[in-house]
Amino acid sequence: MTDISQMYDQLSDPFAGLGAGNIHLGYFDGPDDAATLAEAADRLTDQLIARLPVVRDHRVLDVGCGVGKPALRLAGDLGVRVVGVSISEAQIGIANEAARAAGLADRVSFRYADAMRLPFPDASFDGVWAMESLHHMPDRLQALREIARVLRHGGVLSIADFVQLGPVREQDEEALRAFRSGGGVHTLTGIAEYEAEIADAGLTLTSSSDISANVRPSMVRTAEAIRGAADAFLPLMGEEGLRRLIDNFERAATVPQIGYALFAARRS
Ligand code: SAH
Repeated sequence: MTDISQMYDQLSDPFAGLGAGNIHLGYFDGPDDAATLAEAADRLTDQLIARLPVVRDHRVLDVGCGVGKPALRLAGDLGVRVVGVSISEAQIGIANEAARAAGLADRVSFRYADAMRLPFPDASFDGVWAMESLHHMPDRLQALREIARVLRHGGVLSIADFVQLGPVREQDEEALRAFRSGGGVHTLTGIAEYEAEIADAGLTLTSSSDISANVRPSMVRTAEAIRGAADAFLPLMGEEGLRRLIDNFERAATVPQIGYALFAARRS
């Protein structure tokens, strides 16, 4: 966990800069889609918002909130109240400041907490959303059980996350390893296994969408954007670190089995 906390304490600022406050990949119509990374990142948030059937004043937990942009969009678009959690103190500071700046601090707040042991009572949320965060979990099933515990009966969950679309070719094994270790991807499974874990946690799957083709262009675009923002990254990681970071995204783009999916579920 400390590796993940450190990574986000150190790199949230420049990464959030690339995605205008989003620390997740983007949704592109195809490889020729000219959307910026920030536009595409907001579109991915829209995709997830569309899969979270909550209404005004519902309480939503954002598991792995980053610097808060998705939560602010969720609260702004749907009028819900959001509590975001992250294991990066640096993110919590930036996110709470963003909520104040957006005039949403009465509805949206962020606090340090570990998703493996959520500091909330049973059945205390109407909705939970986990945007590109569950792959960081040392034990994803345990995190899903915690999510199910804090959801009320009938409460809803939506997830955006990496998945692995089958076994990789031998020549891609190193790129996959680098993608996983460089990005802190502790848990990566196929879609069917992900769905089975959601069910094991006591939740009923309501939708599952493989959006790998729409998200894949993000890898090369992110590598390009990091190169363009090298001045922001260099002081934090040095030339060798920066080269490796860019390389990891570029190589990940060439591995067809690195996929991305959206899931929605309901607690019965
Ligand atoms: N959802 C945000 C951030 C995604 S980055 C966005 O889309 O912009 C992944 C997030 O998961 C980071 O905020 C990181 O701190 C958080 N995270 C990783 N492991 C966690 C854990 N064990 N408990 C809570 N948050 C965690």
